[in-house]
Amino acid sequence: MADSSLTSFLDGADQSPFPIQNLPYGVFVPPAASSPRVGVAIGDHVLDLAVLQEEGHFEHPDVQAAEPFSEATLNTFMGLGQDAWSAVRERLQTLLRADTADLRDDAALRERALHERASVTMRMPVDVGDYTDFYSSEHHARNVGSMFRDPENALKPNWKHLPVGYHGRASSVILSGEDVRRPCGQTRPDADQPPVYGPSQLLDFELEVGFFVGPGNPRETPIPIEETPQHIFGFCLVNDWSARDIQGWEYEPLGPFLGKSFATSISPWIVPTAALLPFRVSGPEQDPAPLDYLQQDADWTFDVALDVGLQTPSMDAPHTVCETNFRHMYWTVCQQLAHHTVNGCNVRPGDLMASGTISGPTKDSYGSMLELSWRGQEPVELPGGETRSFLEDGDHVVMRGHADGDDYQIGFGSVEGTVRPASCQ
Ligand code: CA
Repeated sequence: MADSSLTSFLDGADQSPFPIQNLPYGVFVPPAASSPRVGVAIGDHVLDLAVLQEEGHFEHPDVQAAEPFSEATLNTFMGLGQDAWSAVRERLQTLLRADTADLRDDAALRERALHERASVTMRMPVDVGDYTDFYSSEHHARNVGSMFRDPENALKPNWKHLPVGYHGRASSVILSGEDVRRPCGQTRPDADQPPVYGPSQLLDFELEVGFFVGPGNPRETPIPIEETPQHIFGFCLVNDWSARDIQGWEYEPLGPFLGKSFATSISPWIVPTAALLPFRVSGPEQDPAPLDYLQQDADWTFDVALDVGLQTPSMDAPHTVCETNFRHMYWTVCQQLAHHTVNGCNVRPGDLMASGTISGPTKDSYGSMLELSWRGQEPVELPGGETRSFLEDGDHVVMRGHADGDDYQIGFGSVEGTVRPASCQ
C-alpha cells in the first residue's frame, strides 16, 4: 500500500472514513451559495473543486478546457478518462497533505474551499443515462433459485457462463435520504384467483454496490476486458428497492419490470477506483472457465465490508440485519463491462452498473429480506420483540460500506431511505 503513509493537515481526517487516501467525489451546494458544484469529502469537510478550478489549481489540459467542477453533475469529469482523473487526484492529495503549505497555510483559500460537511446539501452526483443491474452474487442467485425453483437446479444453465443482467430504469435512481413510497401495482397473491391491483405487500431492499462508467465506447466497438479498468470511474452503495409480489407475477418471460423500476437509491459519495485498488482480492474460482472475452489475469474483486441496518418506527437506532462483503461477487466489474459491450452496445459517462444483491454464504450475510426471512417463513427478529419478513411503512433502511487498510479506512458513507405508505389510485 504505497500511499498508506499519507496524512492530511486537517484534524481528524486520517482516522475518519474519508481520509486523504479516499477522496470520494460528490456534488453539493455550500451553505452560502445556490449553485451545485463538485467536491471531495475529506474528514469532516468537503473540498470545493470549483473554487480550486477557478484558482487554476488543475493543470491537466482536458480539465482546464472542460472546467468540469463547476457543473451540477460529475458526467463531464467522468468522460475525461483515467489520465485526467489521476492528475486531479494527485493534485488533491498534494494540496491536502500535512507537509504541503499551499492550502494548509492559505487562510483565505481554506475559507473559500473548505466547507464543514454537515453544513452542505448533497445533490444527485450524476445524470444517470442508463442503469444496468446485474445478478452476480452466486449465494444470492442460489438462494433465490432454491426458493422459487429447486435447490438442485438453483442456477440457470447460463449463470456460470455470463454475468446475467437486465436493463433497469435510470429515471428513478434517487439520492440517499429521499423517502420511498410503497409502490402500487398488479399482483396475484392467490394462484387460484385472478390478479388484483393494490399496494405491494412484499416490499424489500437489495444491498448492492454500483460503479459508474467513465469515457465509454462508440457503438459497435466492444470494450476488451483488459481495457475495462480505464472505464470504471468509481463506486457507490446501491439499495435496489424491490416489490417481490409485483416482480413474482410480472417477471416471466422478460424479467424484472415494475417490481424494480419505482426507486433505486444511491449513496452521495463516489469512491474513486484508485482508492480501492489496494483492496483488490481474488474472487471465487470460476469453474467452468469463462469464454476468452471474459478471461482476466488480474484480481478485480474488492474486499469491502458491507452491512444493512433496519429501524422500525418504534426503534431508537438501526439494528444490523446483514453483514456481508463485496468480495462474494462471482463475476467482476470488468467482466460485467466487457460482457455488456461485447454485442456492440455503447455505454456512456455516468451510466450506472449495479452488482445485484450481494449475499454471503451464511444466513446473517444475506442482502435482502426475501433471503433473510426465507420468503417470509422465518421472520427476522428485532430488538424490542418486533419481527419483519418484508418492509413495513415507516421502516428505515441504512446500508454502509468500508474497506479497512492497516492504518486507514476507505468509507463509502451510507445509502438510506424510509418507506412511506402507498397512495394507490
Ligand atoms: Ca437488483
